[in-house]
Amino acid sequence: MNSLFDTIDEQLAQAQVRAEQLRAEIDRHTWLYYVLDEPELDDAAFDSLMRELQELEARFPEIVVPTSPTQRVGGFVVGESFAPVTHAERMYSLDNAMDLDELDVWLERTRTALGGVAYVCELKIDGSSLAVTYEDGQLLRVATRGDGAAGEDVTANARTVHDLPLKLRIEHRGSVEIRGEVYMPKSSFERLNAAITAEAEVAAAGKPPKLFANPRNAAAGSLRQKDPRITAERDLATFMYALADTGSIPVQGQGELLAWLKKAGFHVNPNIECCTSEQQVHDFCARAIELRASLPYEIDGVVVKVDSFAQQRELGFTAKAPRWAIAFKFPPEEKTTVLRAITVQVGRTGVLTPVAEFDPVLVAGSTVARATLHNLDEVHRKDVRVGDTIIIRKAGDVIPEVLSALPALRPEGALKWDMPQVCPSCGSPVFRDEGGAAFRCDSAECPAQRLERLEHWVSRGALDIDGLGPKIIERLVDGGYVVDVAGFYRLTVEQLATLDTGEEKYLHALSIKKREETGDYEKEPVLLGEVVAQKLHEQIQLSKTRSFARVLFGLGVRNVGKTVAELLVRRFPSIEALLSAAEEQITDVEGIGPVIAHTIKQYLSTPDNLRLLKELAAAGICLADEGAGTADAQAQPQTLAGLTFVLTGALENHTRDEAEGLLRAFGAKTSASVSAKTSYIVAGPGAGSKLTKAQKLGVPVLDEAQFDALLAGGTV
Ligand code: AMP
Repeated sequence: MNSLFDTIDEQLAQAQVRAEQLRAEIDRHTWLYYVLDEPELDDAAFDSLMRELQELEARFPEIVVPTSPTQRVGGFVVGESFAPVTHAERMYSLDNAMDLDELDVWLERTRTALGGVAYVCELKIDGSSLAVTYEDGQLLRVATRGDGAAGEDVTANARTVHDLPLKLRIEHRGSVEIRGEVYMPKSSFERLNAAITAEAEVAAAGKPPKLFANPRNAAAGSLRQKDPRITAERDLATFMYALADTGSIPVQGQGELLAWLKKAGFHVNPNIECCTSEQQVHDFCARAIELRASLPYEIDGVVVKVDSFAQQRELGFTAKAPRWAIAFKFPPEEKTTVLRAITVQVGRTGVLTPVAEFDPVLVAGSTVARATLHNLDEVHRKDVRVGDTIIIRKAGDVIPEVLSALPALRPEGALKWDMPQVCPSCGSPVFRDEGGAAFRCDSAECPAQRLERLEHWVSRGALDIDGLGPKIIERLVDGGYVVDVAGFYRLTVEQLATLDTGEEKYLHALSIKKREETGDYEKEPVLLGEVVAQKLHEQIQLSKTRSFARVLFGLGVRNVGKTVAELLVRRFPSIEALLSAAEEQITDVEGIGPVIAHTIKQYLSTPDNLRLLKELAAAGICLADEGAGTADAQAQPQTLAGLTFVLTGALENHTRDEAEGLLRAFGAKTSASVSAKTSYIVAGPGAGSKLTKAQKLGVPVLDEAQFDALLAGGTV
């Protein structure tokens, strides 16, 4: 006779058998659906299998196993940060070939080194790399790349990615680490950003939504969520393509590895080809470029790998990348969109910059909606008009640019654009710089310039006042508290504490549901408050300790960047010395030309500016630099010694001569042409073939702000 216990044991055994059958079937359908994209079951039938398994596991918790499909979103609590994982084998980056010529150099080199060689060509998926460890066929751990030597443990989150098998589909004993890319499909990326925008509107805090710049960031960000349930909602997917240790499974090359991965249940990108000639590799690259737009995910190139593992070992690695693989990067991507407006920005020194505002487009991996048009001459040279269909170009992470307009698609009556005759901010007349491309609003009262000047004063390189952001400055100006930078030093804690931040909060703390029910959406303004005001006041006082050079830079005199300010202070260690210096004496300073000297003198002879300097002195701002002015301090540290620079295009704040003079003052060399030996190219508006060549050669490109930062002793 069966005892009660026997019956329960029997039920448990039956449940176990049924659960195993269900799991195998669910895994198979998940694989068919997510990996092969060949579903056999409809969604309702799949859901019903899943529900049966969930109910069974709920009834008999002892039969649950970590590899069960019900356990993808586990109740795992991820701590404050992700645990570090040291990679047993380094996760390398790839060397780039910027065009087919560079690719040929690599193909030639590998052929010479190896003799006969076969290559495997793959798409370069624009995602985030993953290392996935399986122990006896079961998923054990997933780590991010990190710095290549160590990454982060993101297992709980990565388990939610449906096409990543929790169990291998083939028998494997021991440990194996599979590597590949996790990515977010283009459509999911767009949906995610749309949802973030909608949510921000509901929250109505007046804050701009924090959107992901591109699908790659969205994938990486989604994988680093504190709550795996959020990752599960993000629609991530993988393509796996590599093995950490080529000895861990019985395959001899990349082609065989991809076949093994497919059999083991991984998602392997179908666009792969084994090539034995250079022509075949070229053809693959050409097809990939064609294919790019129609793929549902982002790719940014083609990866060409030496097929045989033995040959890979022969070539080995550089410090950064394998010698047996190369990433062929796609040429700059171009997209069309419609130009909706050309707006004008007024900078700190009154320069008016036209900005193209167009319908957002996803180009070279990120969404863009505006691009600078630099100046009126550029707008006319490109002949772009509002309503035009325009071509936007972006190479990799480089800033987007408007290439041209398509005249055939121009709407009737579209007018040639012109610079406004009056400043869009203050209505004062606008002047063109003599002999220059810039248009300028010369009014000392211009609110846009005033805001920019105030923001510049508090910025990092200048007086560095933490907590004084653009919004608060705008409020201080609107409230009449601050007119010029001296105004900051007259602010009291009380004034700051009662400052309206311009933000609003709900008057009553209610849940969204309750708010909907009662219709209570009443709001009140948010004031800065005592605590923040006190801190801010302290920061303002602290700025009085900043050096004279920073103060000079902070004044925002046209053409006086950080470096020029430092050069000036070395020679003229106090405001008095500078005031009494003749223009020629200023020109004598190495790195400072007549244009800069003239604007400085002009600034220092304007009564309003003299009054401001007096007020700053009275407030206790540092207007002299002890220790400077001695012969010793005059020696310019040669921080750029050994570097060679090429300048191209126009710079806004320096003439070409001055920029070259500055570089020489810091010990750098300048050259007229780009070569592989060029350390940096500094490119401004109107840059031409030198820039293209530099990009081809992989020479780092600096814009004017980065150039200034480098001179100021910073890094790029
Ligand atoms: P990069 O970050 O530009 O140096 O490119 C190297 C990265 O490309 C690697 O770390 C991988 O994450 C990624 N990658 C994408 N697709 C592939 C692929 N098919 N083979 C190898 N690496 C790839």
